[in-house]
Amino acid sequence: MVPLAQQGEPKGGGSEWHTHSPEETEAVGAELAELLQPDTLIWVTGVLGAGKTTLIRGLCRALGITEPIRSPTFTLVNEYTIRQPPSLTGLPLFHLDLYRIETEAQLSTLGLEELLERGGITIIEWGERLPQLGFDHTPRHLWHLTLTPHPDDTRTITLTIKQPDQSPRL
Ligand code: ADP
Ligand code: MG
Repeated sequence: MVPLAQQGEPKGGGSEWHTHSPEETEAVGAELAELLQPDTLIWVTGVLGAGKTTLIRGLCRALGITEPIRSPTFTLVNEYTIRQPPSLTGLPLFHLDLYRIETEAQLSTLGLEELLERGGITIIEWGERLPQLGFDHTPRHLWHLTLTPHPDDTRTITLTIKQPDQSPRL
């Protein structure tokens, strides 16, 4: 994992956050947006209702995306255009959800490799399913985000940044 200090350390320290409301989870997404570089694939892991889409909404808002952000459970792929910061402006942001994807053939209908080749930001809910679906594309940057819900409605959010050379097959 790349030390976060090299990337600009998130407020609150380290790669773990504890949030008490959807708004706080969105705010973590906005902090994460500041660390993004082109050609990044993000897997977001967590049970239904963990707050994956909420976190992604905050991240998208910080990138100047104003459209409604909803789980692409049925549409499978949502595409937006990043409007800020200048280092990312104009690049696509793809939001996918693999909840209903169970086979390699179903995955291939998404055209994920073509999406990644466009060099933008690709965010995948249930992305941890990719290896078992035979996916072996190596993005420039790979992040794993995990959300763990607690009974008091708080959430623990962890970020792990993978180095591509350590994970040639993800
Ligand atoms: P997922 O995409 O993981 O299925 P969503 O983001 O769609 O989850 O839904 C999370 C739900 O939990 C929302 O209804 C949100 O309002 C609620 N919620 C309550 N507390 C939090 C919190 N601390 N962080 C995120 N969501 C929360
Ligand atoms: Mg969702």
